Amino acid sequence: REDCLLAGLIGQGIALSRTPLMQMQEARAQGLFSSYKKLDMDAPERAGMTLAQMVQSAEAAGFDGLNITYPYKIEVIALLDELSENARAVGAVNTVVFRGGKRIGHNTDMWGFGESFRRGLDGARTGHALLLGAGGAGVAVANALAECGVQKLSIFDTDPARAEALAAQVASNFPATRTQPVSDIAALFAEDKPNGVVNATPMGMAKLPGMAIDAALIDGDLWVADIVYFPLETQLIATARAKGCRVLPGSGMAVFQAVRAFELFTGRPADPVRMKATFDAF
Ligand code: NAD
Repeated sequence: REDCLLAGLIGQGIALSRTPLMQMQEARAQGLFSSYKKLDMDAPERAGMTLAQMVQSAEAAGFDGLNITYPYKIEVIALLDELSENARAVGAVNTVVFRGGKRIGHNTDMWGFGESFRRGLDGARTGHALLLGAGGAGVAVANALAECGVQKLSIFDTDPARAEALAAQVASNFPATRTQPVSDIAALFAEDKPNGVVNATPMGMAKLPGMAIDAALIDGDLWVADIVYFPLETQLIATARAKGCRVLPGSGMAVFQAVRAFELFTGRPADPVRMKATFDAF
C-alpha cells in the first residue's frame, strides 16, 4: 500500500496534540490517502484497555505504525521486536513501525531536537550546555545535545537522582561528551558559565507558568532553547529574547519529530516547511 498512510497516536490527554494534523496534511499534500487516529487512553471508550491491546489492534488493522507519547514511551519497549540505535540510546520509543511482521521502535524526539538545534542555532558555541529537566523529554534532548557536539553537558533536575542517571547514560553513549549532574545553577554560572541553556522541564507551560532558571543569570551571551511549545513564546524564550540571546522555541522539536516519523511510516521524505506551516496554523 504505497499510496496510503494509516497510523495513530497513543497517549493520555492528547486532545490538543498537533501531531495528527501534521501527519495527515503532509500525507494529503503528497497525494496519499491518510487516516491518522488520535487514540486517547483517557477516553471513556478505552477504559480498562491496556497498551498491549492497543498496539495489537493497530497492528492487526494494518497500520503502518504508531506514535507513542506520555506516559507510554518506556512501557511500549517490552512490546517490540527491535529497537533502532537512537531508541536504544535514549531508552524510550515515540514511534513504532510495523514492517514485515515486526514491530520496530524508534526515538524521533532525539533527532527532532537535534535537527531543530542544528538548523535554528547553527554555529552556536557548544563548549558547555546546561540542561534543565531530566525527565522523559530531557533524556532525548541530552543525547541529541551530545550528538550535536556539546563537549560538556551539565544537567539539573529538582530530582537529583534523575540528573545523575542521565549524566551517566549520556557519558556512556557519547564518550566524547563530559557530563555532570549539578545541584546549584547559580554556583555553576559563577564557576563555569555555560554557553547555552535548554529547558526540558514543564515550567513555562500555560498551566505551569514561570521559569526553571533565575532570569538574573540570563545575559545576551547565552543561547537559550525551550522544548515547551504551549505557549509558543514561553516566559523563558521571551526573557532571553529581550536580553538579546539567540533563542530556539519548542516548536522545532515538535515539528521535526513528526517529520522523521512521517518518513519512517511512509518511506517518503517529508517537507519540514509544510509541516511547520500546519503546526503554526493549528
Ligand atoms: P517529565 O515529567 O517526564 O519530566 C520533567 C522533569 O523536569 C522531571 O524530571 C522533573 O523532576 C523536572 N523538573 C520539574 N520542574 C523542575 C524545575 N523547576 N527545575 C528542574 N527540574 C524540574 O516531562 P517530559 O515528558 O520530560 O516533558 C517536559 C516538557 O517538555 C513538557 O512541558 C512537554 O510539553 C515538553 N515536551 C516537548 C516536546 C517537543 O516536541 N517540543 C516533546 C516532549 C515534551
